[in-house]
Parts: sequence; structure tokens; C-alpha cells
Amino acid sequence: MAIKSPKRMADWVGSRVKTLYAMENGYAKMPAGSVAVVTGVSRGFNLEFAPCSCCSMTVKVSRVRPEHLEIIELKSAERVEGDR
Ligand SMILES: [Zn+2]
Repeated sequence: MAIKSPKRMADWVGSRVKTLYAMENGYAKMPAGSVAVVTGVSRGFNLEFAPCSCCSMTVKVSRVRPEHLEIIELKSAERVEGDR
């Protein structure tokens, strides 16, 4: 069941997302299908990826466009104001 994406980018903050494309930050490249949390918005989303299962490295990527992400869990069960 697909989760409807919030219209306002600020409403994505705190949500868990899956990447639809590979993305990189200059140090690491995360493959499509990686899971991350949206930690902020400034000229795109700031993402923090789940710690790597083998080395527990945490990767952060910024300026990610919403169309490159799929929401897998909204920030909470509360309804986003004005979104329905
Ligand atoms: Zn690793």
C-alpha cells in the first residue's frame, strides 16, 4: 500500500523513506532501495541513512528531490493538517 506523499516538503521531515535512485555525498554512494530518515529541508531534503549493517557507518546526503524518494513510514500517526 503506497503512502501518499505530503505536499509541503516540511511535512516530510521525520519520515522514513526509500531511495528510488542511487545518490552520493562525495564520500559514499548509496544504492537505490536504501532506507533513510528525512532530517530536514533546505534546497531539497537532508537524508540520514540507516547505519550500515556491516560497519555501522551512517551516511548523510543533502539536496535530495522528493521524486527520488518513496515514503515508507510517515513521521507519526497524526494527520498532516490540510492534506486530506
Ligand atoms: Zn558497511
